[in-house]
Amino acid sequence: MIISIASGKGGTGKTLVATSLALALNELEHVQLLDCDVEEPNDHLFLEPEIIGSRAVSIQVPSVDETGCTYCGECARVCAYNAIAVLGNRVLPFPQLCHGCGACSYLCPEKVITEESREIGVVEWGHSGIIGFVHGHLTVGEAMAPPIIRQVKSYAINHGVDIIDVPPGTSCPVVEAVKGSDFCLLVTEPTSFGLNDLALAVQTVSQLGIPCGIVLNRAGVGGNEVEQYLMEKNIPILLTIPLDIEIARLYSRGIPLVTGMPQWRASFLQLFDKVTDIVHERNSSPER
Ligand code: SF4
Ligand code: SF4
Repeated sequence: MIISIASGKGGTGKTLVATSLALALNELEHVQLLDCDVEEPNDHLFLEPEIIGSRAVSIQVPSVDETGCTYCGECARVCAYNAIAVLGNRVLPFPQLCHGCGACSYLCPEKVITEESREIGVVEWGHSGIIGFVHGHLTVGEAMAPPIIRQVKSYAINHGVDIIDVPPGTSCPVVEAVKGSDFCLLVTEPTSFGLNDLALAVQTVSQLGIPCGIVLNRAGVGGNEVEQYLMEKNIPILLTIPLDIEIARLYSRGIPLVTGMPQWRASFLQLFDKVTDIVHERNSSPER
């Protein structure tokens, strides 16, 4: 089963949930944690994995031989990402914007565009005890997270549980990380900001056709607008974590919640049971 852990914005407790769920489950299931928050991966700070391998991630970007170029502008016209421009007698590729789709080289009438590899980051893998661990790092200054996320997800196991820590927000990297999940846990907090970003995250996962449930973190910090919204949308709250100074202290010291407060292990196992029930019920529904 693939469970993604997402949130409409950063700082809601995604890492806390991903790492504690992995640690709570590892006695029952074959668990792997895939940290797809490649701009700022931090699950390793909590799980302290032993890294045993790494691989550079590259994309193919255009290289133009202007000696045969007629400056027709076709490459710039076909690029959906404004990653190549033709200005007078100059062709200017912008490699940081390039998605590596290959359209410009394919459609150049003079065939003067070739492709060259551009390294944008790295994927590392290893284990933390018996928990499998994979994460990606996007090189600082690069913008193309999805190719690295795809590489991290390519290590998903076909048995047991893969937990995907999704980048914050609702943009392309989030879609890339969440798609293909059996279930998405949305971590939020009961504030007006939390509600605004939660509603965007709910829209994103529902457009992907992925069932979701909520982990309400820092409960007690705000009002009840998030609960009201969830009731209207018929989205279940599967776990509530209170605003608690001791939980915040553990987090700030890089100690997973279920390690620092083992009484939480049972709550995370119940969370997993609820997710499993929803997924099984949905998979056995005749409407599927
Ligand atoms: S499509 Fe090819 S020939 Fe036309 S401007 Fe671009 S590189 Fe030059
Ligand atoms: S490979 Fe695709 S994204 Fe990159 S410059 Fe060419 S058309 Fe644009």
